[in-house]
Amino acid sequence: MTDERIVVVGAGYAGLATATRAGRHREVTLIAPEERFLHRVRQHETAAGRPEHRPALADLVRGSRVTRVPAEVTAIDLAARTLHTDTAGPVPYDVLVYALGSRTAFHGVPGAAEHSYPAERAAALHRRLAASLGPASLAVVGGGATGIEMAAELAEAHPEHRVRLLAADRVGGWLSARGQRHVRRALHRLGVTIDDGRTVTAVTPGGLETDRGPVPADAVVWAASMEPHPLAAEAGLDVTAGGQVVVDDHLRSVSHPEVYAVGDAAAVTLPGRGALRMGCATALPMGTYLGRVLGGRAPRPFAFSYAAQCLSLGRRDGLLQLVRADDSMRPLVLTGTPGRLVKAAIVRAVTPRS
Ligand SMILES: Cc1cc2nc3c(=O)[nH]c(=O)nc-3n(C[C@H](O)[C@H](O)[C@H](O)COP(=O)(O)OP(=O)(O)OC[C@H]3O[C@@H](n4cnc5c(N)ncnc54)[C@H](O)[C@@H]3O)c2cc1C
Repeated sequence: MTDERIVVVGAGYAGLATATRAGRHREVTLIAPEERFLHRVRQHETAAGRPEHRPALADLVRGSRVTRVPAEVTAIDLAARTLHTDTAGPVPYDVLVYALGSRTAFHGVPGAAEHSYPAERAAALHRRLAASLGPASLAVVGGGATGIEMAAELAEAHPEHRVRLLAADRVGGWLSARGQRHVRRALHRLGVTIDDGRTVTAVTPGGLETDRGPVPADAVVWAASMEPHPLAAEAGLDVTAGGQVVVDDHLRSVSHPEVYAVGDAAAVTLPGRGALRMGCATALPMGTYLGRVLGGRAPRPFAFSYAAQCLSLGRRDGLLQLVRADDSMRPLVLTGTPGRLVKAAIVRAVTPRS
């Protein structure tokens, strides 16, 4: 083993998996601002007031050779191989693992950042809803997985409020015909109004402006899409038009080979699979793979196959949508209690244990 300084930035699914795996055999520094792991795939539960599961990062790295630095990285000096941080001073590295993940994208829609609740503000949304004196109207923007899970969870937890789910295209439109039928039936059962084909042009304190007229709402949940953290592009790493780090088949930056990228921050394209989508489903295997490589395992190229997508539809229903290795839909789905139980088991499996 060499005495290279390995520094991992970001302690989400990808960064934490990389650090703890590599830390079985090597000294690793892990930089992230939070004291407790943020389980992002459960943020819709937080919005609905369910108990949060946030184990302490100190407990999660205990027993490994990981040194935690609680700080935010403010800049990366690639030439000097040094990270600048807000509270911990400069941190030099020989090998950098970039795992800063993603955040909600507002796509420049006026008022969206100011007047809506993205997943990052799930706890604030819960406080707002809990403080409502009477029935309120909620507009959830985004017909993808996050929007569907948010709308279902909020409608189930707050039957007194009216929930409307809006999508520029079709809510759940990427799923198989059976998957779509089930999702829409479940949302109807929970009292969610589905509003397909409506593009939001602005968010105001009173609701939404859309291409088909205004939609009044007491609170707006923004779940339209995610974008990678901007630091990689700012530092001068080779990134895609969307800002993900371009990596080779070993998850190594094509412009700076001493830098690796994993999780939502990385643009990974695999033969027969195409570009991997952002998700915990891809972030975790990337982190596990890289942790093994840095820990000294023979570096075979990263390999990954999709098997299923799963959605929670409140606490009593779920959908397991089977997919082919390239993430295209198969006609098979598991719904209702079995779908919910499989989703719950997957969420448990990706939950770091302290
Ligand atoms: C409500 C919701 C439900 C979801 N459900 C699913 C699902 O069912 N299945 C699925 O596959 N995906 C799901 N996702 C997406 C999934 O959460 C993300 O794809 C995943 O979290 C990406 O993991 P990551 O490790 O790349 O980054 P992240 O989880 O985003 O972690 C990034 C890390 O970087 C740290 N960081 C950020 N900035 C800095 C900085 N400047 N300095 C230091 N550290 C920094 C953060 O604090 C964090 O530790 C869901 C997302 C949401 C919001």
